[in-house]
Order: sequence, then C-alpha cells, then structure tokens
Amino acid sequence: QNIIEVHKVLYTYSDGTNALNGITMKIQEGQKIAVLGANGAGKSTLFLHFNGILRPKRGQILFQGNVVDYRHRSLLELRKNIGIVFQDPDSQLFSASVLQDVAFGPLNLGWSREMALAKCEQAMQETEIEDLKNKPTHFLSYGQKKRVAIAGVLAMEPQVIIFDEPMAGLDPQMTQKIMNLLQKLSQQGKTLIISTHDVDLAYGWADYIFLIKDGTILSEGTPGEIFLSK
Ligand code: ADP
Ligand code: ADP
Repeated sequence: QNIIEVHKVLYTYSDGTNALNGITMKIQEGQKIAVLGANGAGKSTLFLHFNGILRPKRGQILFQGNVVDYRHRSLLELRKNIGIVFQDPDSQLFSASVLQDVAFGPLNLGWSREMALAKCEQAMQETEIEDLKNKPTHFLSYGQKKRVAIAGVLAMEPQVIIFDEPMAGLDPQMTQKIMNLLQKLSQQGKTLIISTHDVDLAYGWADYIFLIKDGTILSEGTPGEIFLSK
C-alpha cells in the first residue's frame, strides 16, 4: 500500500548545487506526511520529483508500485494523480478570473466541460471561495489567492496532494481554515504531504515525519518516535 516510494534519489541543479543527496522514503496511501526541514534543505526539490517536474539524476521514484515513466503521456497521468500547491500562489495563478484559474487544470484533463465545471464548483465550495468566482485573481488577498490555488488542484481530484509550506504567510484565522481543509481532505482518503519548518505543526498534524537536512533524511518516524526518542 505504498503510494509513493523514493529510492536513493540524487539531484543536482545545473549550477552544481547538490539539492538531494540520496533520499529514500516510503509513503503509504492515506497518510498525512510532514517533511520537516530548514530553508534550503531540499523539500521543494523533493516535491518536484514526486510529480515528475524534475527527474532524478540517480535513483528512482515509484508511484503505485510503478517506476515513474518520463514520457509525456505518462507524466500527464502522474500529474493528474499528484497535485502540488506551491508556496507562492502567484506562481500558480495566471487567468483573468478566479473561476478560469480553478478551471484551467480540469479543462486540460479531457473531461467534458460540464464535468470540469462541476468539479470546480465543488472545489470552490470546499475552499470557501464561491463568492469570489468572477473576481480577477490579481486583486485578491494572499489568503484568498492561496485558496484559489488550492481549489485549482482539488478540482482535478488528485489522490495525493502536496502542500509546500501551506501555512507560510497566513494569519491565525486562515491557518485554522487550511488546517480544517487538510483534515477534511484526509478524511476523504487523500494522501497529504506537507513541507514545513514548524515543528509544532508537524508534531500535531502528521502521521509520519521525515526530517530532512542538506538533501538527506536525518530521521523519520511517527511524531512520538521522532520527538520522544532523543
Ligand atoms: P527497511 O525496508 O529497511 O526495513 P523501511 O523503510 O521499510 O525500512 O521501514 C523502516 C521502518 O519505518 C519500518 O518499521 C516501517 O514500517 C516504517 N515506515 C517507513 N515508512 C513509513 C511510513 N510512511 N509510515 C509509517 N511507517 C513507515
Ligand atoms: P527547501 O524547499 O527545503 O527550502 P529547496 O529544494 O528549495 O529547499 O533547495 C535545496 C537546495 O537547492 C538549496 O541549496 C537551494 O539553494 C538549491 N536550489 C533550489 N532551486 C534551485 C535552482 N533552481 N537552481 C539552483 N539551485 C537551486
């Protein structure tokens, strides 16, 4: 029941930065995973490997037991199954209105227009942005943009949802809203992976934690194992 497996993955950026230095991890279906680490630890680089945006220089990624295939068609399928909510919503939003932004992904999946729009409505309800639907994304607050970006990912109904620093830059009220949403998604059976440098968040939320530093896993375990075994 491992939905994602990472085997000895190395990744070096073109400028020579070794961002991942042999990462191995297993993620089970339906888990709430926190990847805990300081800035520059390699969290984002790891996430870009999960849905095939980056390809390991060495090692392998498996999704549902199959080694990721980097041909175009297979990658589209992978990205339908694994959605990423980036830290900066501005990097993910580029349409004229909220609805157009949310609909961009689903309309590209080959669903009927009717089906795609129904998924968008549902996603906008879950993220509480229905009232913003015809607004230009440009004028929204940071927290609103964040929810539009999340809705766009949810509307594609991925099995795995990755949130890069989901709480960064949010006020306490919005943090609580995102927390509730994560809870709801988990109850729906989604596999959730978040990155954070917030130890309390990881401890309180996750089923299983990977502590990452300089592109390697320093330790891993349940919150109890990680924090009580010192
Ligand atoms: P090995 O195959 O070398 O024994 P594993 O990675 O399979 O190492 O697992 C080491 C331990 O961590 C095992 O007890 C395994 O059940 C546990 N483990 C690994 N990944 C997870 C995970 N995502 N959730 C829960 N337990 C995990
Ligand atoms: P985190 O998400 O944990 O902050 P990153 O994966 O963003 O870590 O970064 C890991 C390492 O890779 C850092 O040393 C960072 O400076 C470097 N890095 C990230 N993106 C790039 C890039 N596009 N080009 C070169 N180096 C990068």
